[in-house]
Amino acid sequence: MSATVAGMTRPLASCCLLLLLLAFPAQAWGPMGHRLVARLAEPQLTPVAHAQVRRLLATERLQSLADIANWADELRGMDPSLGRRSAKWHYVNFDGGDCHFVPARDCRNGDCVVDALGAQVAILADRNRSDAERLQALKFVVHFTGDIHQPLHAGLGSDRGGNTFQVNYRGKGSNLHAFWDSTLLASRGLGETTYLWRLRASQAATPASAEPYTTDSPAEWAEQSCVLVHQPGFYPSSARIGDDYVARHRPTAERQLKLAGSRLAALLNATLD
Ligand SMILES: [Zn+2]
Repeated sequence: MSATVAGMTRPLASCCLLLLLLAFPAQAWGPMGHRLVARLAEPQLTPVAHAQVRRLLATERLQSLADIANWADELRGMDPSLGRRSAKWHYVNFDGGDCHFVPARDCRNGDCVVDALGAQVAILADRNRSDAERLQALKFVVHFTGDIHQPLHAGLGSDRGGNTFQVNYRGKGSNLHAFWDSTLLASRGLGETTYLWRLRASQAATPASAEPYTTDSPAEWAEQSCVLVHQPGFYPSSARIGDDYVARHRPTAERQLKLAGSRLAALLNATLD
């Protein structure tokens, strides 16, 4: 449970959570997607990087990367000022007609997921910073690496990354962004740990965790997500989404989760080891 609701009675907490969910449209992989990315990454850390991660987490009595994977989405309730300041750090819009990342056009003032990820990595790497600052940076890094691999976090600004594209799946209305955040994964009907085993066992896209991380990488990751959004059929031809759409696109979503996990590990290894 997030710090937002700690200390509240359960009904009051649920009510506040519900209000928060209603007030803010989905804007990230759902909680399960982010936790899966973190849990895929953690075993791929080198012993040195893992020890650093565990030491930072322990300063807030946290134990795993999954514990912090959704913190950045819960921020608006906990720290409205930082929540507002970081609201644009979860995505990038490609409005130039192609998927080529042009910082001056696509990331003004560094307010997009590409630059935000780079900035938070720099804070995490800086041993002159306090543990509190570096842990906060780690929380952002884990979350944004997940976000940048949700294709619609690098989509079109004209429909706010699919947020204004209404869809209906099995009689339930939603939008394409929320569908990719959560419904597509939930359609497996698996709990988190079973899903994790399934992803680990699948052969799809297992990039070497040693894939080099360079400062260019987040831009490339975003460009690759953008390419997925532009593939024919990514936008369903009608608002009614069928199981054929799920069968075709869920493997893409799962491949992106695995990529995100491996790249997050590579990034943390390069930063902390
Ligand atoms: Zn997010």
